[in-house]
Amino acid sequence: MKTVFGLLGCALCAVAVAQQAPSAPPPDVKIETVSIAPGIYMLVGRGGNIGLSVGVDGAAIIDDQFADMVPKIRAAVALLSEQPVKFVINTHLHGDHTGGNDAFGKSGAVIIAQDNVRKRLSTPQVNAAGATGEPRAREALPVVTFADSATLHFNDDDLEFTHLPNAHTETDIVVRFRKANVLHMGDTFTGGFPFIDGSNGGTLDGFIRAHETVLASVDDDTKIIRGHGPLGNKAELAAYHDMLVTVRDRVAKLVKAGKTQDQVVEARPTKEFEEKYGGANFDAAQWIGRAYVDQKQALERRKKK
Ligand SMILES: [Zn+2]
Repeated sequence: MKTVFGLLGCALCAVAVAQQAPSAPPPDVKIETVSIAPGIYMLVGRGGNIGLSVGVDGAAIIDDQFADMVPKIRAAVALLSEQPVKFVINTHLHGDHTGGNDAFGKSGAVIIAQDNVRKRLSTPQVNAAGATGEPRAREALPVVTFADSATLHFNDDDLEFTHLPNAHTETDIVVRFRKANVLHMGDTFTGGFPFIDGSNGGTLDGFIRAHETVLASVDDDTKIIRGHGPLGNKAELAAYHDMLVTVRDRVAKLVKAGKTQDQVVEARPTKEFEEKYGGANFDAAQWIGRAYVDQKQALERRKKK
């Protein structure tokens, strides 16, 4: 079973990468609205957590879960804002974070994302199981894109978008509400082990660098919306980063000693972290397998020099 989970990776992400496949009717999920700061909320439903800004300029959401969640997302927003969603920001390309793009795009919302989100969504996508999906519809594509960073001045705050290269994917950004001191980190920070989507440019080293970038910009009062899981903070992100570094260093050592991928997975470099970060959706074999590939490539590069 491990292999099956390994191939599927984070069920919430990998299943959603292709996301066009028709499936059984969605479970009846309610949206829970969590108040984070004046005018800023986290919407928890099915798929990635949504960040919501409401105020004088209207409503903006960060990520939009699945297509079938859109009516519920709109209803949750309508309880807080008389205006419809004006901007949708995608933290990365995965279908459990961009599934609502089609509907929001069609109704006139401006979709904003890193360049690679548009590149990937407008071409056939390969999911973590190696299957290729169709390009997304025109309306689902981001219309404002950027390489490294951009800022949206909205509802009396500055929403700063910063690219985190080759982390969970090659499309990730962190969104920072500069005045409110709130972040949305997409799937570069979740409640469990990372899912590293190598098919879409994700690497463990990039994940760690992403955390270093973010940790340098936060303080003890910063509230962090994770891609999945409860609201987080700096201490939790720092602990998560340290866990990744410990595991990465162990994997690197095993790779250097000539171990195979299976042997590295069997050595359980995640041992003491499994209780805290493990679980059905957070499979150690998937990301350790990916970490093995990364570290082996890094070792080969060093040998060539
Ligand atoms: Zn994801």
